[in-house]
Amino acid sequence: AAEKEKMNAVAKIKVVVRKRPLNKKESVKNEEDIIDTHSNCLTVHETKVKVDLTAYVEKHEFVFDAVLDEEVSNDERIKATCFAYGQTGSGKTYTMKPLPLKASRDILRLMHHTYRNQGFQLFVSFFEIYGGKLYDLLSERKKLCMREDGKQQVCIVGLQEYRVSDTDAIVELIERGSATRSTGTTGANEESSRSHAILQLAIKKSAEGNQSKPPRLVGKLSFIDLAGSERGADTTDNDKQTRLEGAEINKSLLALKECIRALDNDQGHIPFRGSKLTEVLRDSFMGNSRTVMISCISPSSGSCEHTLNTLRYADRVK
Ligand code: ADP
Ligand code: MG
Repeated sequence: AAEKEKMNAVAKIKVVVRKRPLNKKESVKNEEDIIDTHSNCLTVHETKVKVDLTAYVEKHEFVFDAVLDEEVSNDERIKATCFAYGQTGSGKTYTMKPLPLKASRDILRLMHHTYRNQGFQLFVSFFEIYGGKLYDLLSERKKLCMREDGKQQVCIVGLQEYRVSDTDAIVELIERGSATRSTGTTGANEESSRSHAILQLAIKKSAEGNQSKPPRLVGKLSFIDLAGSERGADTTDNDKQTRLEGAEINKSLLALKECIRALDNDQGHIPFRGSKLTEVLRDSFMGNSRTVMISCISPSSGSCEHTLNTLRYADRVK
């Protein structure tokens, strides 16, 4: 029990270290200085885990959850992404649905109290990726296209963003988007298992004393209810449409796995281009971001094949 408690404690607290650059005074060498203050004695290994204090005889190494180097600015966005993975009927939608609401409740509380009158605004958007194409779930499934602005910032042209200031408005948007998704084109519930639904909460801050400037994006939370993982195996179905959709789902779930693995191993090259799903989420993965994958599994013995596949997938991205 003590061991379990210890593990829980570790999981609940994340320690992040942030290194600042040398200041002006420190970077000028003063002949009378006994200690060479102008040299940089901290080495940060990636944004991830290690700090070495190597200037003196003794070498110190510390490991933290994250280490931010001097290149990380205050403008760095807060990015968090949560995925629900699993076969159809395993509980993805059930698990995912309350999360954006809970998150926005916390954000709104901060906006209305701690950070009152500081120009923060909250926006909601909700879209799906179906057969490799984007559709706005809050705008009658209007077809959307994606662009990259050259600064690695993803822009979905025409995507409706709703500004919200209370949770009732968010509940209404989630309900509306979910209904649009599941009725889809044929009205069958089937449809929702073939698309990835992406709900995003964008936190923006208006420029102080300058209302004409568009607000700046300071944070983005993404909640992704993935297509049924078993659909990726529909590649031998008799129906051509089903086969194509299956291939697309298979491709995106593989690409997602590869991107998460590459990010976790700090590989320089992240294969975002592997699918529309990973391309769209590109900016949510970059820099100081957090990703959570919830793998949903069914206890039924009839599902054990799919359950094993889900656990294998989870094992590969952990
Ligand atoms: P998926 O989105 O993966 O296809 P759903 O979220 O629609 O699956 O879940 C299938 C059914 O199981 C739904 O009726 C849902 O209410 C129920 N369900 C899923 N997860 C749970 C859970 N953890 N506790 C209780 N009921 C659940
Ligand atoms: Mg579902």
